[in-house]
Amino acid sequence: MFTLMESARLESLHFADDPATGLKAIIAIHNSRLGPALGGCRYLPYTDEQSAVDDALRLAKGMSYKAALAGLAQGGGKAVIIRPAHVDNRGALFEAFGRFIDTLNGHYITAMDSGTSSVDMDCIAQHTPHVTSTTAEGDPSPHTALGVFAGIRATALARLGSDNLEGLRVAIQGLGNVGFALAEQLHAAGAELLVSDLDHGRVQLAVEQLGARPVASEALLATPCDILAPCGLGGVLNSTSVGQLRCSAVAGAANNQLASADISDSLQARGILYAPDYVINAGGLIYVALKHQGEPLPAITAHLTQISRRLTEIFGHAQADKRSPARVADAIAERLLYG
Ligand code: NAD
Repeated sequence: MFTLMESARLESLHFADDPATGLKAIIAIHNSRLGPALGGCRYLPYTDEQSAVDDALRLAKGMSYKAALAGLAQGGGKAVIIRPAHVDNRGALFEAFGRFIDTLNGHYITAMDSGTSSVDMDCIAQHTPHVTSTTAEGDPSPHTALGVFAGIRATALARLGSDNLEGLRVAIQGLGNVGFALAEQLHAAGAELLVSDLDHGRVQLAVEQLGARPVASEALLATPCDILAPCGLGGVLNSTSVGQLRCSAVAGAANNQLASADISDSLQARGILYAPDYVINAGGLIYVALKHQGEPLPAITAHLTQISRRLTEIFGHAQADKRSPARVADAIAERLLYG
C-alpha cells in the first residue's frame, strides 16, 4: 500500500468500515499544498477492494491538478464508497460517511460524483460542514458548460485565428447536463451543431430547439468539423479513434478523454489542438469550491474566466516548445503542486 501511495505521491489514505450501515469508504488525499483537499464522492459497485483504492488514488491526483490549474486555494482528494449489493437505508449510509469525513477536521471536503446525488450530500451535511453540492448549493453542470464554452472560444482563437463562433462546426458527443447546456450556448453564438447521444430523446431535443444535425454515435468522432467536443464518457481519444478524427481541435467537458498520455502526442503530430480536459472542464469545481468558501455568484462567474486565460497560456507554451498542451498542463500543475 505504501509503495502505491509513494508512486502516486499521495499524502494520506483513510478507510472507514461501518457494518451497521454497510459503509465501506476510502478517502484519498493527494496534495494539500494549496489548500484543503476537495473532490467528489463515488458510490459504485467495485469488483474488489483494490480497484476501489486504485480509483480513489487516480482520481484524487486528477483533482489536485485540476484545482491547481483553476487557480483555487484547494488541494485534491477523492472519496470512494463501495456500493453494497443491497442497502437497507441509503440515507443512514451517507450519514455515516458524513461522520467519517468530520473526523478529518476539514482536510477533505466532499462533493457529488458518479453514483451520488445532492440528496446524498444533504445526508452528509447533517454531520459535517465539509461538504459541497448539496441541494441548497445547486447543480455545478451549468458552470462546467460555461467554462467549456469559454474554453472553446480560446481554442478556436489559438487554432483557427478567431474566437468568433459564427458558422463554426462543433460536433458534440453527449447531450447530458453539460453537453446540452453547452450546445445551447454554442447555438446562441451562431455555431453549427452536429450532435450524438445514446439517448435519442436528447438528440431530438437538440434538433428541434437548436437546429442541430444528428449524427450516429458511432460516426461522430469521424465527422468532419472544426471542433470536436467530447461531453460523454472518458477514454474517447485512443490509438484507434485519433486516426479517424477529422477536426482541427478537441475541446470538451468529458473527464479523462485521453486513453493514455501519449495519445496527446499523436494529436499534436496530426495538427489537432487538444484543450486538456481537466483545464477546460474546471467550471463545476470552481463553482463548488467558491460556493463552499461563501463567494457570491458574480465572483464565481468572474473566476471562470481563469479557464480561458489558462488555456491560452498553455497553448502559447505548447506552440513555443512544440509539445502537446496536455504535457504542458501537467508540467504547470506539477510546478504549482511540488515547487
Ligand atoms: P451526463 O450523464 O448528464 O451526460 C452524459 C451524456 O453522454 C448522456 O446523455 C449519455 O447518454 C451520453 N453518452 C455517453 N456515452 C456516449 C457516446 N458514446 N456517444 C454519445 N453520447 C454518449 O453527464 P454530464 O454531467 O453532462 O457530464 C459529461 C462529462 O463531463 C462526463 O465525462 C463528466 O465526468 C464530465 N464532467 C462533468 C462535470 C459536471 O459539472 N457535470 C464537471 C466536470 C466534468
